[in-house]
Amino acid sequence: MTRSIRPLVAGNWKMNGLKADLAIAVEVAKGYDAGLKAAVDLAICPPSTLLYPATAALIGSRIATGGQDCSVQVSGAFTGEVAAAMLADSGAAFAIVGHSERRTLHGESNATVKAKAEAAQKALLVPIVCVGETKDEREAGKALAIVKKQLRGSVPEGSTAATLVVAYEPVWAIGTGLTPTAADVAEMHEAIRAELGRLLGKAAAAGVRLLYGGSVKPSNAAELMNVAHVDGALVGGASLKPDEFLAIARAC
Ligand code: PGA
Repeated sequence: MTRSIRPLVAGNWKMNGLKADLAIAVEVAKGYDAGLKAAVDLAICPPSTLLYPATAALIGSRIATGGQDCSVQVSGAFTGEVAAAMLADSGAAFAIVGHSERRTLHGESNATVKAKAEAAQKALLVPIVCVGETKDEREAGKALAIVKKQLRGSVPEGSTAATLVVAYEPVWAIGTGLTPTAADVAEMHEAIRAELGRLLGKAAAAGVRLLYGGSVKPSNAAELMNVAHVDGALVGGASLKPDEFLAIARAC
């Protein structure tokens, strides 16, 4: 398939990884050969404790790093929080915001996610804004409406193709081995592009990278990555296995 948007495959390590696991990043860098470099961008989002050494380990590889969340605050008495500028200072280029695990386990609202995305942009990080419906919402026929509402509430005004990535991650597909059909992904990604067009203007929306996430693995990556308006993947479990992560990248 000819692509007008350069795809991005981002690995979300979640709360996994000790210093020894920097070897995973090094292995990915070894496999990121000239052919892949010509075709796809890669990013690794390790836990924040590994962000600085992971960035250092990846110098020269052209693989970016990212945080998995950021604070809405800039600095000050916010024990345990990590500011976007701190992620940037540790070498990050991206910050995942609004992942369903944050929305669910930490009660993050669309307004909070938007404030985090804005904080990321102010620190010159590109937020990867996550949206996605639950199983109940899909079964009730509300998936499109829910995701559009999340976009309206979570995407900063004035975002452009250079300052925003959106990841569609159906909650029921994350870590479960289940994935939507290619037709469902196509319908959703087309709707996301259209909604971004209303929010940001058609020209800006046309270039925003729309990632699919949720149980992406080598066996389903080719089918999912070939869907129209799918510009890459946000990969959880498989991003901890260099061969699988690289196979997904190759499927782009
Ligand atoms: P998964 O996670 O690939 O393990 O399903 C995806 C994600 O949560 O970003």
